Amino acid sequence: MKRVYNFSAGPAVLPEEVLKEAAEEMLDYRGCGMSVMEMSHRSKMYQQIIDEAEADIRDLLQIPDNYKVLFMQGGASLQFAMIPMNFMKNRVADYIITGQWAKKAHAEAKLYGTANAIASSADKTFSYIPDCSDLPISEDADYVYICENNTIYGTKFHELPNTKGKNLIADISSCFLSEPMDVTKYAYVYGGVQKNVGPAGVVIGIIRDDMITDDVLPGTPTMMKYKTYADNGSMYNTPPCYGIYICGKVFKWLKNMGGLEVMKQKNEEKAKILYDFLDNSKLFKGTVEPASRSIMNVPFITGNEELDAKFVAESKAAGFENLKGHRTVGGMRASIYNAMPKQGVEDLVAFMEKFEKENA
Ligand SMILES: *Cc1c(COP(=O)(O)O)cnc(C)c1O
Repeated sequence: MKRVYNFSAGPAVLPEEVLKEAAEEMLDYRGCGMSVMEMSHRSKMYQQIIDEAEADIRDLLQIPDNYKVLFMQGGASLQFAMIPMNFMKNRVADYIITGQWAKKAHAEAKLYGTANAIASSADKTFSYIPDCSDLPISEDADYVYICENNTIYGTKFHELPNTKGKNLIADISSCFLSEPMDVTKYAYVYGGVQKNVGPAGVVIGIIRDDMITDDVLPGTPTMMKYKTYADNGSMYNTPPCYGIYICGKVFKWLKNMGGLEVMKQKNEEKAKILYDFLDNSKLFKGTVEPASRSIMNVPFITGNEELDAKFVAESKAAGFENLKGHRTVGGMRASIYNAMPKQGVEDLVAFMEKFEKENA
């Protein structure tokens, strides 16, 4: 068996310990004679799995009692519609456009009301986070929406926008559990787990109690109401049982590592190795303004498309997978999520140094 260093943006690398444990429990989960995949979601055994997962994520993020944790499906992309359907009471919302995912969420919200783009970094191909300290927030805005970490462009909000008292909603898909987070700053925050938390198929939402209501837009399907999930412990229907089980294992792994403060340190350390190299390289350069850099997704280029392609091909042959940039932007991107070991980043930098010498 050979494991590669997987720099995929998502689905992405998971902790090896978690995969091994899941493999050991595959045929017989803790003496019950079946896999978690085969188990009734109404069984005691499964209830314990989902309850423990919820308790552990609450513990990791120190989620206060007035917030509920929801396990959903449909990917982050279904949330783009669920958010306006549930929260756009005045049919007005403000969006900050920092990349593809914010753009898609904004476009979806327009199906339901007036979705204003109150700031954007499109002028410089989303290579920075705009100043959000004094934005023209709409008086009757139901919420202000951000994509907190921009997976494709490699930027991150290091400071949350001043929403002038409006509810903040954030897509944290690609920075979920990468560092501690003050949940109380958000009315609703969510992420697809396949970036930094687990296998594709699960979306976790953290919602403040007062946001959970029956007062949703007319025609909102039952399965797209947050209240349906909140009222039924995320089991109105069959949840993505196996995915939630793996997420639960990742939560335990994070707790064993020392929690999110430790993860933040590790992630910053890994990102620094790569950024320091990029800042000093004569061949490679990062594409993001330093103050807006993500510690999860690191895009870089050589400035020569042929050389980029050569790098992607040679790195793959050397055991570094998925370094090709997003199909819409080209270049390279290294996603260095929680489960990417420091050694993986060090080895990548050594490989880049070698490539730089050979192609000087
Ligand atoms: C990947 C990603 C999405 C889309 O996720 P799906 O689960 O494929 O719908 C949305 N937002 C962010 C920030 C992402 O990284």
